[in-house]
Amino acid sequence: MKTVNIKNSTEGIYIKKIVCVGRNYAEHAKELGNEVPEKPVVFLKPASAIIFSGDEIKYPPYSEEMHHEVELVLLIGNKIKDASLENADKAITGYGVGLDMTLRDVQSKLKSKGHPWTIAKCFDTSAVLSEFVLEDDHNLTLDEEIFLTVNAEERQRDKLNKMIFKPAELVQYLSSLMTLDEGDLIFTGTPKGVGKVNKGDVIKAGIEGVAELMVQVS
Ligand code: ZN
Repeated sequence: MKTVNIKNSTEGIYIKKIVCVGRNYAEHAKELGNEVPEKPVVFLKPASAIIFSGDEIKYPPYSEEMHHEVELVLLIGNKIKDASLENADKAITGYGVGLDMTLRDVQSKLKSKGHPWTIAKCFDTSAVLSEFVLEDDHNLTLDEEIFLTVNAEERQRDKLNKMIFKPAELVQYLSSLMTLDEGDLIFTGTPKGVGKVNKGDVIKAGIEGVAELMVQVS
C-alpha cells in the first residue's frame, strides 16, 4: 500500500481512496465550457494511480492530449459519515499539493456519450502527490496561492479562496455520500489555466508555504 509522506515526520499514513472534485473554480468550469455546479462534481481515482514528487508521469498510448490540473489535496485523519461542518473541518488533518492528470481527449469523448470519466482519470501516474503538512503545523487560511509551471513557464496561479466549495464544505458533502476513512485523500479541483503536456516536459507545482512537487512527463 502507498503512504502519504508527512513533513518532519517518519510516520506514513496508508492511503485508502482518492475522492476528487471537479469544477470547483468558476473560471476553470467556464474555460472547459461547463456550467458552475450547484453541488460539487465528484469522481474517484484508485490508489494505484499515485506517484510522488520526483517520479515520472507516463503518457498512456491511448491519448494524445494529457492535461495538468494542480489542486489542493486534503488528508482525512479520522473516519466520518454524515459529518457536521465542524466535524468535517476537524477531520482534515493535513494538506498537500497534487496533480490530477487528465486525458482531455478521452474525457471529451466520454462526456459526449454521457459515460463515466474513469479511463480519462484513473490511469497509472495520474495522481501526483507532494509531501503533506499537518494541520497543526500550518493553519490554511485560503489566502495562499496555488501555482503550476511547465518548463518554467507559468500556466496556473490563483488564490485558494477562489474555490466555490471550501475544504470543510467539501468534506461535509462527501461524508453525506460515503464514509470517509483515515488515509483518504480529497482532490479539491483545479483553477483556470489547464493545458496540454508533452513528453519531456517538467512540471513544478506548489501551494505557497505548504508544499511543492516536481515531475517529468515521459
Ligand atoms: Zn481535477
